[in-house]
Amino acid sequence: MDAVRDLTTSRWPIRPLWAFLHCPVCDDPNVHPRRVEVNQNGRVVDISRYGIGHDERKKGLLRGSEIRLEFYCEQGDIFSINLRFHKGATTVWAEQLGHWEGDWPTPELWRD
Ligand SMILES: [Zn+2]
Repeated sequence: MDAVRDLTTSRWPIRPLWAFLHCPVCDDPNVHPRRVEVNQNGRVVDISRYGIGHDERKKGLLRGSEIRLEFYCEQGDIFSINLRFHKGATTVWAEQLGHWEGDWPTPELWRD
């Protein structure tokens, strides 16, 4: 527990390393993971409820790698949190991917 407590003190030059993720569209605190994708400049691996997939895509304009974490909230928003590494810098951003109504969209990553 000391290691966890140390990460959240002001001795570290960063903010605490954990938080509850809210939907970036509607601020709903109930979000569910549905997919993870790692894109290494065109070589893609994704993990979903259906297993692990591999794909080849066109290389992007920027070299580097991108990690996409996809979620949906209980109000129907589908979004991703993305991390892109390029030339020593990692950027992070959220992206709205769609909205669903009715039954749950793509199933959760971890449930069967
Ligand atoms: Zn939402």
